[in-house]
Amino acid sequence: MALIELRGIARHYRIGDIEVRALDGVDLAIEAGEFVAIMGQSGSGKSTLMNVLGCLDNPTDGQFVIQGQDASTLGPDELAALRREHFGFIFQRYHLLPHLDARGNAALPAIYAGVGGAKRSSRAQALLERLGLGTRLHHKPSELSGGQQQRVSIARALMNGGQIILADEPTGALDSASGAELLKLLRELNERGHTVIIVTHDAGVAAHARRTIELKDGRVVRDDGTPAGHHPPAEPPESHAPPPGGWLRRVQVQWREAIATAWLSLKGNRLRTALSMLGISIGIASVVSIVALTNAARDTFEGEFASAFAGKIWFWTGNPDLPPGMQPPLFTPKQVDALAALPGVSSVLRERQTGVSARHGTRDVAAQAMAGGPDLLKERTLRIKEGRNFSPFEQAEGAQVALLDLQTVKKLFKDGQSPVGKTIFLGAMAGAAGGPEAVAVPGAPPVPPSASMPYRVIGVVESASQMGFSFGNQMIYLPERNYRAKLDASANLQAFAVNLEKGTDPQPVVAQARHRLRALRGSEDFGQFVGDEEFKKFQNFNAGFAALLAGVGAIALIVGGVGVMNIMLVSVSERTREIGIRMAVGARQSDVRLQFLIEAVVLCCLGGLVGVGLSWLGAQGLNAAQQLLRVSVDWQALAVAFLVSSAVGLLFGTVPARRAAALSPVDALARE
Ligand code: ADP
Ligand code: MG
Repeated sequence: MALIELRGIARHYRIGDIEVRALDGVDLAIEAGEFVAIMGQSGSGKSTLMNVLGCLDNPTDGQFVIQGQDASTLGPDELAALRREHFGFIFQRYHLLPHLDARGNAALPAIYAGVGGAKRSSRAQALLERLGLGTRLHHKPSELSGGQQQRVSIARALMNGGQIILADEPTGALDSASGAELLKLLRELNERGHTVIIVTHDAGVAAHARRTIELKDGRVVRDDGTPAGHHPPAEPPESHAPPPGGWLRRVQVQWREAIATAWLSLKGNRLRTALSMLGISIGIASVVSIVALTNAARDTFEGEFASAFAGKIWFWTGNPDLPPGMQPPLFTPKQVDALAALPGVSSVLRERQTGVSARHGTRDVAAQAMAGGPDLLKERTLRIKEGRNFSPFEQAEGAQVALLDLQTVKKLFKDGQSPVGKTIFLGAMAGAAGGPEAVAVPGAPPVPPSASMPYRVIGVVESASQMGFSFGNQMIYLPERNYRAKLDASANLQAFAVNLEKGTDPQPVVAQARHRLRALRGSEDFGQFVGDEEFKKFQNFNAGFAALLAGVGAIALIVGGVGVMNIMLVSVSERTREIGIRMAVGARQSDVRLQFLIEAVVLCCLGGLVGVGLSWLGAQGLNAAQQLLRVSVDWQALAVAFLVSSAVGLLFGTVPARRAAALSPVDALARE
């Protein structure tokens, strides 16, 4: 059985209305171990025949059988397998990959056979040494002479075994000495059992072969036939070529090669890489910043809001715009207890406060005095700015000491003067709770306050809230016992809060509470503030803001992704010849697709890394500039960036990668 058999092979090209018959019914049989020269004038169809023989091109018509297998029925990947396992190509213009050294070029076909790196290198080195290139292993093609490059391409042809060596005008670009040497090498290979098919228009070259086939206008006009007495070699040549790896090995080699190639290509075009990374970096920086900011906002504000507001309803009465004598009555214990008994209410927080006048030296101010228990700071989200909190002893004794808030300090003391240790005078506001009983006379001027009780200021408090919100202004806090003894012995309250049981819907409680209070007080002279509703409003605002930022980030990412797609398309068309070479040595479509996809993903991930760096720098700057928010860009952000960039790379790399994989090997090789 012949090794290769062509029956009625035709290859037609259509250019507009003209049909070019490059091959027009070729019948041919070639035995294993032959040395065949295909001759003919320029344009006679030699290269077309060679491409069909090497499974680089599909014939328009006819049957092509190799080792009993009909190649015309095979798909692209099966043809790639044939090329990889049976053929070795030697091109007139060498077709080496410029960025790989001699050893890397020679080893290329073994990558697609799934042979591991170490085995590949040692075999490539052995082949190159055999071909006299032992001292040129690490030279790039541009650093080698034409004859040396052609020997590298012979090593490449032999890498996977090279049972059939196809050489298209192999001496065409060589000087006569190198050409003669090459022919000698080809003859030696033929003697070792390789089938050698060489295309030439030079009769001198053809004379080295044992059989000549001549083409004219796509038809065979002369064929010497297999020489009489030809014996096919007993065993295939280069039987010590490393066997193809298993599928796991193959996947591993495939990925490693794709990543290495992507890296080389990106490194080779630094400016372009940097510019296309920029778009992704901006997009990722916005996405990461949004995640970081939203997290920071949630941790800072929501935590604070939740602890201060969630599950609470405040009730208050009084109108600061009315004179003291016209204020509505305070809440009585009966009213407060009535609310405490409502279903869904777990406890009440009694806030005892009353209007006082305060004086220091010649300054005086109207303020609210409030009774503070042991949990005062926590309940009112306060912290000590200066001085100290009430001691347990002062609490127990009801000592005549006070904590002032910042507004009170500002009104009573000169700028820069510390109030701690000073004495201020307080007096109950006329008409206020517990104060001198004033008869409310509409239109009468308010009773002048008299501040006569001395209090020692032991500390200044400020809001512990990072957002600076506070429950009331111009507050003076007194030990609870002192407050009750000196300002207001009654149990009436101006304001109080109810704590809801966990998971209770505040609305029905509010409705019932309003109903009860209205009934007990006889009028609707009070207001309420539902913590959860305020909290929700705040959360909604936060979420809306985050969504807006996310939209900006998404747009930046899309713009960046389109940039990457564009650059990858340029890269595919620039590297068409490289794709052709890889396909000629046996790369599958999936290998090519993976290579370009990985390149897009690596490009995007590098951009993502830079983006994370940018947002990290931004976060440091933001943290240095303000105290309100602590923004941190952490591993979580890095993971998000990695996922998002990979997704962008996959999304926008798909079109270029598919385009690269769909190229036909001959077309790709012919492209300059
Ligand atoms: P040779 O290698 O013998 O010089 P080729 O096989 O390259 O000849 O070409 C044979 C004929 O087919 C020529 O007339 C050439 O113009 C034509 N041909 C080759 N490739 C193409 C192509 N891709 N498109 C159109 N015509 C082609
Ligand atoms: Mg040609």
